[in-house]
Amino acid sequence: MTRAQANAHRLKVTEPLELRFLPDDGLHFEEAVEEAWIEAQLAEDRQHSGLLYERSGPTTVTLDIDPLGSVITRPPVALRGHLRSPLRTHCVRCQDELDATVDTPIESTLFPAKDGPAPDATPEHALDESSYVGDVIDLPGVVREALLLGLSMHPTCADEPACDARTAALLAEVNAPAEALAPTGPDPRWEALRHLVVTPDNEE
Ligand SMILES: [Zn+2]
Repeated sequence: MTRAQANAHRLKVTEPLELRFLPDDGLHFEEAVEEAWIEAQLAEDRQHSGLLYERSGPTTVTLDIDPLGSVITRPPVALRGHLRSPLRTHCVRCQDELDATVDTPIESTLFPAKDGPAPDATPEHALDESSYVGDVIDLPGVVREALLLGLSMHPTCADEPACDARTAALLAEVNAPAEALAPTGPDPRWEALRHLVVTPDNEE
C-alpha cells in the first residue's frame, strides 16, 4: 500500500479535505504550514487566553490519512502524524521571554456522522476521536487543535529559582519610590511592571 503524496495533488492541511480526493490507499502530507494561517490561530487563541504567542520559525506538519475501508463507503478515517511549531511567549511571572515550541503527535480517528452535524461533534469531544460531516474532513480543525492544545495557559520559566529572583526584583522595583525607579524618565519596563500590578491573577 502506497499513500499518495498530498502536495502532488495540491492538497493542504489548512484546507478541508473532500473524500473524493482521498485515495483508498491513503494520503501523505508533509508540509510547511503557511505563516499567516498559524498567526491567525494564535491571534484567535489570544482573544480567549490573553496570552501572546509568536512564531519563531516555520511550522511543519506530517500527516498520514488512511481510510479504514473503501472511501466510497464513507469509512472511519485514521489520522496519524506530527506537528512542530516553534513559538515564543513571555513568562507570566517574571516577564522573561520563553521558548514555547509545540512539538506534538497528531493521532485521531474520525467516524462518519449519520446525517447533518453530529450532536456529539463538539470541540470538547474532538480530542481523540470525532466525526466528519458529509464528505469533508476538517483537516484545519485537526491541525488547529494539535497546535492550541500544545499552548500552556500559564507559561512560566523552567528555571524556577532564577524566575523567583527576577520576579522578586520586579516587585521590589514596583514598590520602590518613583524617583529611584525613573530619575530621567519612564523606565521602558514600566509597562510590563504595571501589567504585573494590575493583573495579580497572573501570579499564583
Ligand atoms: Zn519567569
